[in-house]
Amino acid sequence: MDCGSGLLLLITRAMRRLEPGQLLGIRSAEPSVVIDLPVWAELVGHTVESQHAETPDGPWLFLVRKAAATTGPSTVFSLGERTPIGQRLWVYTNFDCNLACGYCCAESSPRAAARRLAPDLAAAVFAEFRSLGGREVFLTGGEPFMHPQLGAVIDAAAGLDRTVLTNAMIFGRGRRRELLESLDRSVTLQVSLDSATADLHDRQRGAGSWSRALDGIGLARSLGFRVRVAATLYDEKPAGVAALHRRLDAEGIATADRLIRPVAHEGFADSGVHVSIDTLEPEPTITADGAWWHPVAVTNAHLRIAETPLPLAEVFGVVRDTLAVQDAAARSGREVFRCA
Ligand code: SF4
Repeated sequence: MDCGSGLLLLITRAMRRLEPGQLLGIRSAEPSVVIDLPVWAELVGHTVESQHAETPDGPWLFLVRKAAATTGPSTVFSLGERTPIGQRLWVYTNFDCNLACGYCCAESSPRAAARRLAPDLAAAVFAEFRSLGGREVFLTGGEPFMHPQLGAVIDAAAGLDRTVLTNAMIFGRGRRRELLESLDRSVTLQVSLDSATADLHDRQRGAGSWSRALDGIGLARSLGFRVRVAATLYDEKPAGVAALHRRLDAEGIATADRLIRPVAHEGFADSGVHVSIDTLEPEPTITADGAWWHPVAVTNAHLRIAETPLPLAEVFGVVRDTLAVQDAAARSGREVFRCA
């Protein structure tokens, strides 16, 4: 790893566990670390006590002494509007899905391990989130409506602004329809619809998925839900984007409820926007088995923050410390990759 691909998260986590004055040993075979690590240490106020190359071409071993002041640098540069860390939380309810989209960042499919978030763990997560001042949660997957206890997970987030991401294809009948009808109308549904006509959408998401998504959008709206539409552009031309807006106008989807973003080169995607902690504004994300920098990066080991979702305070702390270093270094060029 280098500082841009995940090392910064690792050493930030490790430093948070040390007392001031204790030493952290870092061994790296990545040449850029020889330049970046001393810069990071200076920004944060730590001291590089020693630096040793095992061969002239590395790997290199560093010993870094933790600063007496543990709060890290103040943010000296503003990089634009950012949702304050701790206000928004992304939650993967499960990883199985009725679809197997070619660009799925979560590597979801009908055969994917479900990795379901249990309702009692969800309740603990949301309780801590509220206590920390959290305001809004985005429940995603996989297809959340595949989770047999989705209703209990959504209920556990009561009092927070709740959005459920869905392909809107499987809640039309049976017990899922009952669940949909039982949900509080304060819950927002964010539905994927990639193109104005079926061709591009179905090419990535499977034959017939476009028309079923539209049916799902219509059903949810007829039941009184606010529906937000998210389009992932894979091969779309500008004229296609304009056509999509016209289609959404016809569907009655407000402009503010449209989200159009590129494919991220993550998970199953074989191309798309490269993401790293330098190009992704953090959106702390938890799964049943860990915590991550951003929801598009839950298959990327370099963007994993923790092996457990709790405590959230530690997850947010690592993100804040990392941002403080990035801001202090004024790493311009960060792009915002929005999912909500
Ligand atoms: S992109 Fe969404 S709908 Fe498609 S496989 Fe992944 S989770 Fe399922």
